[in-house]
Amino acid sequence: MFKKILIANRGEIAVRIAKTAAQMGIETVAVYSDVDKNALHVASADQAVYIGGSVPRESYLNIERIIDAARATGAEAVHPGYGFLSENPTFAEAIEAAGLIFIGPCAKAIRAMGLKDAAKALMEQAKVPVVPGYHGPKQSNDGLLREATRIGFPLLIKAVAGGGGKGMRRVDTEAEFSRALASAKSEAQGAFANDAVLLEKFIPSPRHIEIQIFGDGESAVHMFERDCSMQRRYQKVIEEAPAPGMSDEMRAQMGKAAVRAAEAIGYKGAGTVEFIVDATEGLRPDRFWFMEMNTRLQVEHPVTEAVTGIDLVEWQLRVAAGEELPMAQDAIELSGHAFEARIYAEDPANGFMPVTGVLGHVNFPSGCRVDSAIQSGDMITPFYDPMIAKLVVYGENRSDALAKLSQVLRKTQLVGSQTNLGFLIQIAEHDDFSRGCIDTSWIDRNVQKLTSDNAPSQAVVLSAALAVLTQHTAPNRLTGFHLWHPLKKTLNLLWKGQKIDFYAELYPDRVVLVSNSSIGTEKDALTDSQRFDLEYKVSGWWFGPDLLPEAFWLGNKIWVCDTASQVFDVPDPLDWVESLGTTADIIFSPMPGLVSNVAVMAGQKVEKDATLVVLEAMKMEHVLRAPCDCIVKEVLVASGDQVEAEATLILLENLGLSLSSGHC
Ligand code: ADP
Repeated sequence: MFKKILIANRGEIAVRIAKTAAQMGIETVAVYSDVDKNALHVASADQAVYIGGSVPRESYLNIERIIDAARATGAEAVHPGYGFLSENPTFAEAIEAAGLIFIGPCAKAIRAMGLKDAAKALMEQAKVPVVPGYHGPKQSNDGLLREATRIGFPLLIKAVAGGGGKGMRRVDTEAEFSRALASAKSEAQGAFANDAVLLEKFIPSPRHIEIQIFGDGESAVHMFERDCSMQRRYQKVIEEAPAPGMSDEMRAQMGKAAVRAAEAIGYKGAGTVEFIVDATEGLRPDRFWFMEMNTRLQVEHPVTEAVTGIDLVEWQLRVAAGEELPMAQDAIELSGHAFEARIYAEDPANGFMPVTGVLGHVNFPSGCRVDSAIQSGDMITPFYDPMIAKLVVYGENRSDALAKLSQVLRKTQLVGSQTNLGFLIQIAEHDDFSRGCIDTSWIDRNVQKLTSDNAPSQAVVLSAALAVLTQHTAPNRLTGFHLWHPLKKTLNLLWKGQKIDFYAELYPDRVVLVSNSSIGTEKDALTDSQRFDLEYKVSGWWFGPDLLPEAFWLGNKIWVCDTASQVFDVPDPLDWVESLGTTADIIFSPMPGLVSNVAVMAGQKVEKDATLVVLEAMKMEHVLRAPCDCIVKEVLVASGDQVEAEATLILLENLGLSLSSGHC
């Protein structure tokens, strides 16, 4: 076995590989770019080598730098992970030429599967069913159009060098064909410097089911299927194993076809054979067709690990080091059910735009496998994939596993960046998904509903309000403690520009909030004049039988982690004072300070502009005045009191206040 390997990757896959290597007593070398110098993947390895700038081509795609790093550290083999150079045959060759071992298939096998047209031709020879279509040399508009009419519509145009759905277009009618072809070709040229395309019949009710295979260079075994039909624009979102509705007969046939595909190219290492399945009449053994083979570990490999108990990275290391396949086909067993959800820093409400930013607080729950390289304080940069984590759950059966998935997603706390967590929860808890009734277009058909921008629930707003009260610290039992009388305050929040006001009375271990706003339309909406009696108990703040979700301060915003994070702005108290105008009947402290003088008593009639309270704060004297003629209803402070921001100082009858400042 190797003593030391280099991991030519970053992020969660680099961390994941280092973990297995450590368990096997193999030392690891990480490589990193400028922006990654404090990344978790660097800390997870035994050694780390800087390889260049943050742009991938200067570092993680820089073959020379990676090989130099392996040589300099004495690594014997290189694991490419996935993405970056993992399917680049030139890289595999360069590694071997440098006298190192590439932990993956040989360059020839990568090349054989690299172009979709050549791969399909090879698979036809190996008697693997391929999607009907055209993958010949003709590339002219007229020639392809003739083929398209022969195949029939709808069909797919695919870039032969394609990946990630790029250069792919669905065409429903002959009239749309030429324009779609031109746009597919230009996208393919831009992305892959190769504008060749192939045509495929569009399979109705398509399900994406793939088979994990593992070869030793001659023979291969399979580790059953993964269903990756939950996709958005041809990108996988949630994967599972086994596939819902899969019969033993179909599984055996798909497994055999995948093994034939691997053996046809003398495949060594972990690979995935992807099939498209026509599920119009459920899963049928005569309705699956080869799409492509990925000659590397897949992002979704953990679901296979969960249902087989196999560590695929361990197998990769063993086979690359020259050992035999660790298990024979009949010893590999499938048990239980697993899901993987991919959490991204992206904004589903804004067309799933990737977002960047600092994740001030990151907390993943127990009860699941978390593959992630993101920790609290880490930055999502524009340089790499915005994936934050993959959560993998396992259950005895599909419904157990799905219940766990929704639970762990709900308990995940990500503060500081928009994420797709809420979107994933909506999917995980959808009836169609729990019945296994989905196909690859299900998300696109339901996207509006899955991404609707839901107003915060009562519990979320209450939690944010408590966070305002406790000012930049986590809500705690001391909130509201006051020796003589309950502290009274008004507080206000903004949710997407919408004002939410509360009147609060604070007692030891208790807060009464009275809402002065309405928000939301569901049954959980907050309405005007609603009264909430909140109680502090050991684990946090409760409203009746419910523990309120946790809230976090980040800068001047409050994030509440519920189904998805909801963000609230906390207006500057000084702005707020001015915005209150003359309708307020509460005089409150605009900032923390010392009450240097209380000029009025309860029951006293005062004239407009009369001084009510003088406050010293920030080396300034702030005079709080009556906005017009009024009666003082209650005086809640005395001269010499230290008051917090927003503390209620005086209650007036009907009227408001004005504020003027002058130097002390
Ligand atoms: P890429 O390599 O760009 O990811 P694939 O060939 O793997 O492209 O296809 C991506 C996705 O497109 C599949 O998972 C499936 O959802 C859909 N797809 C591909 N081929 C077909 C087809 N012939 N009919 C219907 N859907 C298809």
